[in-house]
Amino acid sequence: MEKEKKSLLIRIVIAIIFMGLLFSTYFIRDEIELFLNSMFYPEVSSNISSSNLKIHFIDVGNADAIAIELPNGEHMLIDSGDNNNTSRNALINYLDNNFFDTGEEKVFDYFVLTHGDADHVGGAALVFETYEIEKCYRSRQYTPEEAAELGITTSNQIFSGPVFGNFISALEKENCEVEFFTVNSDINFNDFDINFIAPLQTNFSKSNNYSPVIILTYAGVKTMFTGDAEKDVEEDLLDLYSDYSGEYAKSVLDVDILKVGHHGSDSSSTAPFIRATSPDYAVICTDGKEYGHPSETTLNTLQTNGVKNVYRTDLNGNIVIGVNSSGNIAVSMGTYTKGFQIEWYQLAILVGVVGLTIIFSVGVKKKKSKR
Ligand SMILES: [Zn+2]
Repeated sequence: MEKEKKSLLIRIVIAIIFMGLLFSTYFIRDEIELFLNSMFYPEVSSNISSSNLKIHFIDVGNADAIAIELPNGEHMLIDSGDNNNTSRNALINYLDNNFFDTGEEKVFDYFVLTHGDADHVGGAALVFETYEIEKCYRSRQYTPEEAAELGITTSNQIFSGPVFGNFISALEKENCEVEFFTVNSDINFNDFDINFIAPLQTNFSKSNNYSPVIILTYAGVKTMFTGDAEKDVEEDLLDLYSDYSGEYAKSVLDVDILKVGHHGSDSSSTAPFIRATSPDYAVICTDGKEYGHPSETTLNTLQTNGVKNVYRTDLNGNIVIGVNSSGNIAVSMGTYTKGFQIEWYQLAILVGVVGLTIIFSVGVKKKKSKR
């Protein structure tokens, strides 16, 4: 009897130590989850360290912010997230901790604001305040004050609202070069090119359609950025590049990676446009809640037209797509597709139950029944 009591006491002590150790892993739960999930889903955490081009789709809610490390070491930022603190903090935290290397000068050589909407220019004033901007590309949308000064009377081009106004006043204070982007705004280097293939007009009835369509080409890999450009823009591009029975459209518009237009809304991404672009990778920047983005129609269009990899900032967190000098594409993500993700608490319960069972059962003599 005494022996049994002593044995039980030892088991309780071991169990307390075991549970203590188990709970202490709570403090490294992120590392544990990342390690396990990347082990089970290696296709979404391939090694991007050898990539010379890295495109970071930052999780800033139902908004766009895409930061690019160009092969020559220069930096480009397309849009600046939404006009709220959560989005702005997510952007600045990400850029400071995951984009710029420690000790590196925090400079954006190119800062593109696709159009005047708050979910694209919302963080612009803070970006100007926090980083050095060499050159800013803006749409042909003007504040009422600018319009009055420049004699612009086309009402479509006049964009009111405090968020856009804040962006323009911050831009005026920043000592940087400003270009109103057009299809002549291409930036060409020895081994990569940034081509603006839209806007094809100077005046649109919808703010979204002012968005430039940009193709970045490196090592034979093409990435298309679309801002919030809608169906009308897609149709204009298909018309323009379809001179030779559709073949030309394929060669110009055919890309490997597509930033899906307008947060995956069904106002963009028509089936003909997805067929012409035929990306292997599609990225949707959305929070998955507001305005029904992404739309089921868009997700179906991507699926039925053979887009193999569809990533979403609401499900995958921050998404980085890298391209190396041989044209190999690598992908890395902050979190993993919901539904498949292993979480710390699940693991802790499992290990706890198994551990306690072992501690209290090993070496316990079972009463043998006489037979
Ligand atoms: Zn938008």
